[in-house]
Amino acid sequence: MQSTNSAASPDSGQSGGFRLRFLGANATVTGSRHLVEAGDRRILVDCGLFQGYKPLRLRNWAPFPVDPASIDAVVLTHAHLDHSGYLPRLVRSGFTGRIWCTHATASLCGIMLPDSGRLLEEEAGYANRKGTSKHHPALPLYTEVDANSSLRQLKGVAFDQAFEPAPGVMATLRRQGHILGAAAATLEYQGTRITFSGDLGRPHDPVMLAPVPPADSDWIVTESTYGDRAHPAGSLKEELRDVLRRVLARGGVVVIPAFAVGRAQLLLHVIAQLQAAGDIPSAPMFLNSPMATGVTALYRQYRDLHRLDDAALDTLQRATQVVTSVEQSKALNRRKGPMIIVSASGMATGGRVLHHLIAFAPDPRNAIVLCGFQAGGTRGASIAAGARAVRIYGQDVAINAEVVQLSAASAHADSDEILDWLRVAPRPPRGVFVTHGEPDAADALRVRIERELGWSAHVPEYLECADLLRGAGSQPEAPASSASSQASRTAPVPSS
Ligand SMILES: [Zn+2]
Repeated sequence: MQSTNSAASPDSGQSGGFRLRFLGANATVTGSRHLVEAGDRRILVDCGLFQGYKPLRLRNWAPFPVDPASIDAVVLTHAHLDHSGYLPRLVRSGFTGRIWCTHATASLCGIMLPDSGRLLEEEAGYANRKGTSKHHPALPLYTEVDANSSLRQLKGVAFDQAFEPAPGVMATLRRQGHILGAAAATLEYQGTRITFSGDLGRPHDPVMLAPVPPADSDWIVTESTYGDRAHPAGSLKEELRDVLRRVLARGGVVVIPAFAVGRAQLLLHVIAQLQAAGDIPSAPMFLNSPMATGVTALYRQYRDLHRLDDAALDTLQRATQVVTSVEQSKALNRRKGPMIIVSASGMATGGRVLHHLIAFAPDPRNAIVLCGFQAGGTRGASIAAGARAVRIYGQDVAINAEVVQLSAASAHADSDEILDWLRVAPRPPRGVFVTHGEPDAADALRVRIERELGWSAHVPEYLECADLLRGAGSQPEAPASSASSQASRTAPVPSS
């Protein structure tokens, strides 16, 4: 499957037609931004921050590829910052439309975006005080005030309820597991439908419900974070029990970088259960996040979106000491083990966990427990790969602590689970765009989709453009081993 490649100037697109421009999450798992152009309307599906390698991070600072004022609406699949974290900047740059998402995603954004602004300000302030930035003064990408003003444009909708983000374009959001409120987004224009997987959760996650099958679609844009991997069968409880027993028994500190929303609650839940059963030595457990209390309250508010009952939430809360202020956060670094600290960000790209790494990573008695995907170019990826030191705020921090990567803590479907989700689509789509994966993962998934489902699949590049109306009727491009005659008749996006 090829697509009309117009990487030159995204802002020079003609009006009319139904097109998709890839403005992020290409060859990376961060910066999800997909621009749908329907006639003369523009809808942005997800509006994420780039993280990881420097050329990617610099895209956060570059002008947005199209004028934000020309975008009619944003549709969000979920609240994670690599899907929502650019919103305050988009609004500050002139976007005035609505931001459509599920109610739970709106609630989470209400907590996460101001927190993101606050952290960006804290980091810029720290860099200025310590003189560790090349920029004088170092400025935050956006502030807490910017984030709060962007929230006024949020518009919550129910799962499966049709809405019209722009005249002539209908949309629905369907449950994807992953985190509270996470959805796949389907957009329809002139009878052609495209579904964006967002981040696909796991069918048997201990906390989140299983994703529902994709909507009937002409095109599917799927994530591919683990497109080249199968999650091992082991249980998270056993993995955590082993490392916590070992490290707490020797008086060590266990530092767990974790997304404050989603993975943190899963870890706290499992650790609280281990403590309650006496399976691990008793030790205080801290959740260092200003968002923690608000997020736990959302688990109680949206109880139909996850598997934790009141008793499990009570156990979790009793076992966890929540740290909110900067002073308390600093005091933790002077404390001795044994203890457990869960703190964001999950890939150690920023946030308070950096200060805990400075304090605890040099001591071999301690442990760093990584629990999610570590994108290339992040400190988390370096630590996972066995780096002896990582650079934090201009200093080299020795990594002498034991490093453990949990394999059963992922919030993302693995390769088999993504294929299982695609397979239950009501009909084969005309084509699948494989995004939100590093190059090997995206390409491995593309190959499996072509070989095992017999569907046309393509890994788009940054700023590539695909024509969604002209697909039907042009020359078919038969997949290597087409299992479906319908799929081989269906047309890939023609090249121009
Ligand atoms: Zn996510």
